[in-house]
Amino acid sequence: MFDDQGNSYLDFVAGIAVNTLGHAHPAMVKAIGEQAATMLHSSNLYHIPKQIELADKLVWLSGLDRVFFCNSGAEANEAAIKIARKYFHDQESPRRTVITATNSFHGRLLSTLTATGQDKVKVGFDPLPSGFIHVPLNDIDALKSAINDQTAAVLLEPLQGEGGVNLADTAYLKAVRKLCDEHGILLMLDEVQTGIGRTGKMFAFEHSGIVPDVLTLAKGLGGGVPIGAMVANEKVASAFAAGSHGSTFGGNPLSCAAALAVLETIEQEGLLKNVNAQSVRLKVGLQRMVKKFAMAESVRGSGLLLGLACSSAVAPVIESCKLKGLLVLPAGPNVLRMLPALNIKTGEVEKALEILEAALEAVEADRGVES
Ligand code: PLP
Repeated sequence: MFDDQGNSYLDFVAGIAVNTLGHAHPAMVKAIGEQAATMLHSSNLYHIPKQIELADKLVWLSGLDRVFFCNSGAEANEAAIKIARKYFHDQESPRRTVITATNSFHGRLLSTLTATGQDKVKVGFDPLPSGFIHVPLNDIDALKSAINDQTAAVLLEPLQGEGGVNLADTAYLKAVRKLCDEHGILLMLDEVQTGIGRTGKMFAFEHSGIVPDVLTLAKGLGGGVPIGAMVANEKVASAFAAGSHGSTFGGNPLSCAAALAVLETIEQEGLLKNVNAQSVRLKVGLQRMVKKFAMAESVRGSGLLLGLACSSAVAPVIESCKLKGLLVLPAGPNVLRMLPALNIKTGEVEKALEILEAALEAVEADRGVES
């Protein structure tokens, strides 16, 4: 990336996990250009061939059955919350409550900020909708105690991004799946940040061997063109008939053309393999920082969604990185987050680590710490 002064930056923010293929990838330029020259938008009153193609692809990749398209992560989660309620409404069941995790982040709509397990996003927006409960992540007993005859669904991020790069354990996810099945409630996974190859598999849930009833996607799906998706199994999807829910822009020809280009390029360029290889390189480099710097405590995350957890505020390190030509971002006050494009190259990872090391050195020197 270049700024208005001509300074160049290595982009390890990627529009907050959006620019899957980096910037100006030829496949994106071609797909978007061709679609713009054909038809940008037609509304969902008509069948959109690229939307059908994209839905087929997501169904095939996820093992689920049907897709609802919208424009953002919050909208995808809103659709998930609505379909969970409608599913139980149709069975004349009182189940309406959604359980989510402490420190989760699910978006900024009234429903999704209430679902979010962080108080800071709620301040000033009351009255908030009812029907949301929060439990600590990775604590199966807390979840067991929270489930009752009002519970409709559990909504979790397999790896919390905004909340501090916190991984849901495989054993926990398996136990949650089992618990949901035992109670006949839905397991919904928010993969808005982790989906589309970010963790080294197409979807993060694949690491744990479980399959959710509902999966939400956005961010990386369009590679920079806004699109969101709620993917559901047939049992749940049948709760939405034509007219139950909708979106004017959702799944329009342009956003679907972009998303198809993202998915095709991930496959053609073998990018999942690259994510795994660069993840190891980045993790090893970050572990080196943990050994070298007093403030660096641990490395968290998976694939190319990694966090360096620190004992103090990371804002000065992020600022120093920026001045030295590297863009990174926080995940909470004390975690420095890195989520570059999936096609990041070895030399770029090495350069980013060099800059981060220099930034940590500068910040610790400023604070009078000897490394
Ligand atoms: N869910 C998760 C896990 C996210 O990380 C985000 C955004 O950071 C959202 C939902 C909300 O997505 P959007 O900003 O596209 O509404």
